Amino acid sequence: MSVDHPSFGKLDDDRIIIFDTTLRDGEQSPGFSMNLNEKIRMAEALTELGIDVMEAGFPIASPGDYESVKAIAETVGQRDDSPVICGLARTGREDVMRAADAVRAAKRKRIHIFISTSPLHMKVKLRMEPEQVLEAGVAAVTLARNYTDDVEWSAEDGTRTEPDFLCCCVEAAIRAGATTINIPDTVGYALPEDITRIFTMLRERVPGVEKVILSTHNHNDLGLAVANTLAAIRAGVRQVESTINGIGERAGNASLEEAVMAIRTRNDAIPFRNNIKTTNLLRVSKLLSTITGFDVQPNKAIVGRNAFAHEAGIHQDGVLKNAATYEIMTPESVGWAKNSLVLGKHSGRAAFRDKLNTLGYRIGDNQLNDAFRRFKDLADRKKVVFDEDIVALVDDEVMRDHARIRFVSLDLHAGSKAPPRAEMELEVDGVVHTSTATGDGPVDATFRAIQQIFPHTANLVLFSVGAVTEGTDAQAKTTVRLEENGKLVDGQGADTDTIVASARAYIHALNKLLVKRVRTEPAALSA
Ligand code: MN
Repeated sequence: MSVDHPSFGKLDDDRIIIFDTTLRDGEQSPGFSMNLNEKIRMAEALTELGIDVMEAGFPIASPGDYESVKAIAETVGQRDDSPVICGLARTGREDVMRAADAVRAAKRKRIHIFISTSPLHMKVKLRMEPEQVLEAGVAAVTLARNYTDDVEWSAEDGTRTEPDFLCCCVEAAIRAGATTINIPDTVGYALPEDITRIFTMLRERVPGVEKVILSTHNHNDLGLAVANTLAAIRAGVRQVESTINGIGERAGNASLEEAVMAIRTRNDAIPFRNNIKTTNLLRVSKLLSTITGFDVQPNKAIVGRNAFAHEAGIHQDGVLKNAATYEIMTPESVGWAKNSLVLGKHSGRAAFRDKLNTLGYRIGDNQLNDAFRRFKDLADRKKVVFDEDIVALVDDEVMRDHARIRFVSLDLHAGSKAPPRAEMELEVDGVVHTSTATGDGPVDATFRAIQQIFPHTANLVLFSVGAVTEGTDAQAKTTVRLEENGKLVDGQGADTDTIVASARAYIHALNKLLVKRVRTEPAALSA
């Protein structure tokens, strides 16, 4: 059943399309919102990872969503190696037009239409009769086909949809011109055997199904998202929708790195191919953590800190004799490298740039100069500089691009004798300001000093500190979460000085608050 697809051409039977929705389903979940620059950085990293389709956002949801999808289509979407750039839309004319407009500039583009098909959703959420739902889907797909030949149709809450009606809707969507049919397990309710049954049914009963790509989209409410994804592949699905680190609504989506490594590691049972460069997986995972401020849990498969750490003596002994004793895949295959002393304080600018290239960064000269200055400073203070240190430092630097508020210097007097006092220098819109403040501890004094220079009403709701590597000279990585009018933002900072890292994180969060984002009603944002 070889499919001729408008964006991919003739597809081999064993080819799996990897559809990434980190920037849409992932980004719309609480705490994971990203600004335009952050989305473009993620889009570039996802492109280098080798995904086939990038769901860049939901253009009608807000002006910010529209602008970011458009910007991705105009930048990443112009690259020779660009994935198909996809925009999500409900069935309304305005939704479809907005999505079409946002993705228009991309070399390869997709419009993704979704509508609920389950009895509960149709009655309570849409207040539509099944007949109307079917017609709305057909009308939207027909309209979308005027703008691109690559149109995906999704049955929201598809796994709780009445089977006969699901078959009718899928058949109608295919007739209207949909080239990918996605059946989401929107609420994370399905078991693997349900997924198998649904896709087997569609393949047996729906005329024309052999001409389209079937797609699976699973939520992890019962921890089954990846298992359901693999069941779908074995039942004939050729597109997998997933996110980096499994982020997404509620318990998240199927994790891209887990699904891809399951296919690769158990290729005996799941004999399919995809275009993911697995050695990039860790880097993209870490980039997402850096941007959003949420680290994955240590025991997270593939990308967690402990995913390849062997603690038990018997295990360590076995691995040293032969890694295959306790390792089903190598840490290197997903991008883990042994801690290595990479550069010292005598390393030059060229060596630094070279190192950045091997770590996957391509940054401009100005950013390179700033990052290099900070690297020299770090090398002076820290005996050994690891890859992780450079990643933390450069991510910290790149995030500050286009920032209105910039850290200049901090002088701190702390200890047990007198109240801590912070002397702060910040640049706001190009002008340097200074302030002095005391507080209940050095962090408090520092944050007060920032507030004096840049008055605001945001509340500090989370402050956390972690170490980038081991040892007392390790860089601190801090996260500051601020809340203002119900809007949450996370800022990160890295430095060998914990207080300086805290100041940088606070300033990063403030800069994010300054990026205006208005969302429409959350009930509409689903699928
Ligand atoms: Mn979803």
